Amino acid sequence: MSNKTNNPKRREVTGSSSSNSSISSVGAGDNGISADLASLFECPVCFDYVLPPILQCQSGHLVCTSCRSKLTCCPTCRGSLGNIRNLAMEKVASNVKFPCKHSNHGCTVSLVYTEKTEHEEACEFRPYLCPCPGASCKWQGSLDYVMPHLMMSHKSITTLQGEDIVFLATDINLPGAVDWVMMQSCFGHHFMLVLEKQEKYDGHQQFYAIVQLIGSRKEAENFAYRLELNGNRRRLTWEAMPRSIHEGVASAILNSDCLVFDTSIAQLFADNGNLGINVTISVV
Ligand SMILES: [Zn+2]
Ligand SMILES: [Zn+2]
Ligand SMILES: [Zn+2]
Ligand SMILES: [Zn+2]
Repeated sequence: MSNKTNNPKRREVTGSSSSNSSISSVGAGDNGISADLASLFECPVCFDYVLPPILQCQSGHLVCTSCRSKLTCCPTCRGSLGNIRNLAMEKVASNVKFPCKHSNHGCTVSLVYTEKTEHEEACEFRPYLCPCPGASCKWQGSLDYVMPHLMMSHKSITTLQGEDIVFLATDINLPGAVDWVMMQSCFGHHFMLVLEKQEKYDGHQQFYAIVQLIGSRKEAENFAYRLELNGNRRRLTWEAMPRSIHEGVASAILNSDCLVFDTSIAQLFADNGNLGINVTISVV
């Protein structure tokens, strides 16, 4: 294991360059060293970081856990991978701040490895995926480009203005999995309304209706939405905070954290195979 990057001389130079040594300049020096140290943990295959538990080959080379599971021998020396734990490197790793993996998109945060994954999931610099339901569109990019993308590549989506609108889903009796999508524009923001019909198990279909904000999670916290099926002297209501398109709606649908109803209920409110869902957005 080479230790040359952990050069104590460099620390002195950095520290003494600011004559009136302040806490912030000492901190900046530490960050420089941390960045040097972090590079020691780079996986030679994928350039992601090798994080604890750290295993080394017979000759001491490191490879990350996910690459390791795909390899039969060490990518550096072709030797046996073995199961040798490197506790010293693990100790070093817990004292190193690793840059967020979205640093190439502008994130400047560095964190200890135990906090890294959680941050990266929620990191505001993580690229946004296309918010359209279904995995057919592979677009991803920054938030500013989501609306232009929708207008360019998903022209068929209708937009209604106002905080109180009716989302009309036509032909809800179409067989198989179907998505209905609409945009609602109010309070200076765009919301995407999604109605999804899925076959839960053989012959049993369920509808899931949900609203997502074309915006960050923080922005989504400022709003609430209400979905209401109304008619024939019956009413079914769901209220919640909109999802941010950064998290998407797939997990909420999976957990039924949205308006859920089956085909029988849909029939109670449908008119000629069309279902109107009242959507109200409010500021909280
Ligand atoms: Zn790797
Ligand atoms: Zn090796
Ligand atoms: Zn980040
Ligand atoms: Zn798309």
